[in-house]
Amino acid sequence: MRKCVVALLTFLLVLPATPVAYADAYHARPKLVVILVIDQLRGDLLERYRDDFTTANGFNLFFKRGAYFSGCYYDYNNTKTAPGHATIGTGAYTDGHGIGSNEWWDLGRNTDRVISSVEDERYRLVGTFDDLPVPPPGVIPPAAPRIGSSPINLRASTLGDEVRMATHGEAKLYGVSLKDRASILPAGQTANGAFWIDQATGRFVTSTYYMKELPGWATAFNRGPRIAQAVKESGLDETTQFYSLVGRTPAANSYELDFAKTLIENEKLGQGKVTDVISVSLSANDILGHQLGPDSDAQHEMLLGLDRDLNTFFTALDKSVGLANVTVAFTADHGIAPVPRESARLGIASASLDLELLTEDLNKTLNAKFSPGMDVKYFLPTQELPNLALNWPKFPAGVTEREAEQVVVEAMPAAIRRLGGPELPPNNNATPEATRKYLESREDAGPSLYFLRSRVDLAEGKVPNTEFGRRVSHSWSDHGGWYVMVVPTAFQMETFSGIQTTHYSPWSYDRHVPMAFFGVDFVPGYYREAVAPVDIAVTLASVLGVNAPSASVGHVLTQALRRVKVEEAR
Ligand SMILES: [Zn+2]
Repeated sequence: MRKCVVALLTFLLVLPATPVAYADAYHARPKLVVILVIDQLRGDLLERYRDDFTTANGFNLFFKRGAYFSGCYYDYNNTKTAPGHATIGTGAYTDGHGIGSNEWWDLGRNTDRVISSVEDERYRLVGTFDDLPVPPPGVIPPAAPRIGSSPINLRASTLGDEVRMATHGEAKLYGVSLKDRASILPAGQTANGAFWIDQATGRFVTSTYYMKELPGWATAFNRGPRIAQAVKESGLDETTQFYSLVGRTPAANSYELDFAKTLIENEKLGQGKVTDVISVSLSANDILGHQLGPDSDAQHEMLLGLDRDLNTFFTALDKSVGLANVTVAFTADHGIAPVPRESARLGIASASLDLELLTEDLNKTLNAKFSPGMDVKYFLPTQELPNLALNWPKFPAGVTEREAEQVVVEAMPAAIRRLGGPELPPNNNATPEATRKYLESREDAGPSLYFLRSRVDLAEGKVPNTEFGRRVSHSWSDHGGWYVMVVPTAFQMETFSGIQTTHYSPWSYDRHVPMAFFGVDFVPGYYREAVAPVDIAVTLASVLGVNAPSASVGHVLTQALRRVKVEEAR
């Protein structure tokens, strides 16, 4: 008996000194988790340019020293920024985390415009130029404080939230991006701070949801030379459109990574007794990708610049925290379609749909049915595929949502046929009218519709019992009023002014993203099996020994995890 007690006491005394190699959040193993998101990066692009990445700590951190997954696809259709970032943080799809799109119509909150997924009238922005004695040139201060942002619509916990809860709030949690939604959503509800930029000036801001004023180091960053340096590096002398003009250049990535580095140093991330978490979402790729397409030389240049900037960032992190103490998860929020004109040139049935013409056509049918002889605008003014939103208060009393949406559903196939077929005219600058005439003249013009559903049917779960149907279910949220979901066949999108391509669809080019892990728990290698971004938060939760996020549906990627030996286990 005494021997047993002595043995037990010896064991207990020896235990804390025994080097434990496996990770757990409670002992700061690792000290810091970095969730690195590239906004809009299709899964094939890094492989296409892989030979060009020459730095040690850039993309090669994942290709040569990490576990790289080439077959990572979102298993839902909401391939947009806000839902994608929420999915990365929560390990859930829209039906779990609640974020269905970047913005949507909510006539209960605003009848003039769509509301954003993170805007929140209860809070106000912090750190705009209000604290400067003189606003930057060309910037007119707003009359009232601008509406703040928060994870108001996020209905699930994130990995970071779980680490915060598991450590009684001792762990630190931050988000950084040029975009509010991409900063707020992957971090979660319990973040100590989330920072994004004021689009005019490039200054990093936050919201009273997190803090009443910016930390001193952030104010110093905003007042220092870094903004002017980014503007200069982007080829401009000065600008009042930082987001769109500097944001589309590689200078925006180094600017953002410098802010993240400053945050990590000043908030002492990776210096505590438990694991800290930061998500960094780099937006420049997306801003440029929309304008010029994924296959442009400029996008290639962007990725080469990003490789160098990531190398600088992770090399600095190696000096401050030590890469041996850091785990990195790397992915993107969505892919991107090729520019329709370019895929059409190679013979792919591609098209741009003019949503204004389409809704005008459908509106005639709605007027004929509900208000003969009148011209009521039954569609709301801002439309985005796939959900065409109806101005429901305009319908005559007694018309139900089901009736109204059913009329649209029945009229849609013919209305889309009247828009024209799947080919594009050779000149992408043609007017919509010229485009329509050209399409009408083509013999092979045909319907380009793939899937159509009223909101009431979606709410009742009426989706096909197929892979596609499952993705529709994963994409469900109850946000928005009356609408009809319209999914065109692949390589088709709405027409835009100023941009050439987008992402919003269930097609693989929008769902395919890179995914990789770096850290002591991961076995370096190239993994080809089918995985999904929902696996990231769940895998990290397993590694850290915390609960998987509340709505998570991902799987632990055991194939890439180092086996913990019996003697390592506590
Ligand atoms: Zn985008």
